[in-house]
Amino acid sequence: MAFVCGLGTFGLSKGLITARGRAGRLGSLVTNLPLTADERPYSEIYEYCTQCGACVKQCPVAAITIEAGKNHQRCSAFLDETTEKFKPRYGCGKCQVNVPCESHIPLSPVAKPTTTSNTTAKGLNLWSGDSTKDSDRIVVISDLHLGLDDSFSETVKNKAYIVSFLNQLTASDVDELVIDGDLLDEWFIPTGNSQPADLQEFFTKDADNNRTVIDAIKSVMKSGIKVTYIPGNHDMLLNQAILSAILYANVQRRWDALQDANGVAVKLPYATATAAAQDATFCDQQAVTQYFNVDPSVDVVVFGHTHVPVINRYPEGYNREKVYANSGTWIDRNLLGADMTFVAIESGKDTTDVRLMQYQPDGTVTNLEQQ
Ligand code: SF4
Ligand code: SF4
Repeated sequence: MAFVCGLGTFGLSKGLITARGRAGRLGSLVTNLPLTADERPYSEIYEYCTQCGACVKQCPVAAITIEAGKNHQRCSAFLDETTEKFKPRYGCGKCQVNVPCESHIPLSPVAKPTTTSNTTAKGLNLWSGDSTKDSDRIVVISDLHLGLDDSFSETVKNKAYIVSFLNQLTASDVDELVIDGDLLDEWFIPTGNSQPADLQEFFTKDADNNRTVIDAIKSVMKSGIKVTYIPGNHDMLLNQAILSAILYANVQRRWDALQDANGVAVKLPYATATAAAQDATFCDQQAVTQYFNVDPSVDVVVFGHTHVPVINRYPEGYNREKVYANSGTWIDRNLLGADMTFVAIESGKDTTDVRLMQYQPDGTVTNLEQQ
């Protein structure tokens, strides 16, 4: 009724966005007073919604997606679950607050994340000038944790943003994309009768469940950007045969060979590394122990795994400044720090620029070190 009367249009989360925003209540008055109808200032049902995706990120049960809008059953089931806990209050409403449409009509329509390959996407604005011949531009992402089944995967809502980010990469002046571990997640195995028969089936189904992301990575490769994939502890069983069927070949799996491939000067025994895997500070400190203290030619070390996006600069004590960065994660709810983070590196003849960045739902990027 309110939509028909010209009060506002619907949003992705199905609430009505009015000039006073979405976090409110509507009432009605029945009268026989003769009134002149005023103009309805919109024509489309979702005209005021910029599809920014902020409400998608707010929902605790992934009941809203950019692609399908709101899943009313999932939302309602969550409200029923929490009824007892929050008595006498009822409801959730997290999709209505701390979003651009909370108290007004969002003014500036923003880039809409897409789920399909889009080579005309605008490029990421990471560097001020054009790439030169003696400068390598590298983007590092990690810990996507794409799951076999969205009902228990850690990354559902953010998939659309990953795709949008990758599409923008294809239009950017980037030379290399490094996927620094835990792309697909083999640790979350479903219970019940529908378990995959073997690794091949598991990873094939996992890739199918995340087809938009896999296809976006392929688009990055097709665009001429070199893609380097380093297995993490959640996708260590993704062997060469399976990976080449899903994406591409050449994966290095053995622990010693992996350390050799990464140029680790001070190697850690597998048992030590796995025992300390939960200790983010220990992991971050390995940049100093394994590289900076022993190899003056190494200026930058990037790691993932911990889900704690970090950038540590060491301006003194070495032949030149050393930088360690942790690329963080893209899981939906990162309790350890920001999500949708990545590291951008420009390595030139004379200088190396390293930045810890965050991809925003509106398709822009933020430098986390400057916040
Ligand atoms: S938060 Fe963004 S996507 Fe969600 S309803 Fe509001 S404007 Fe639309
Ligand atoms: S009310 Fe809560 S559970 Fe329902 S869609 Fe909004 S944020 Fe999600």
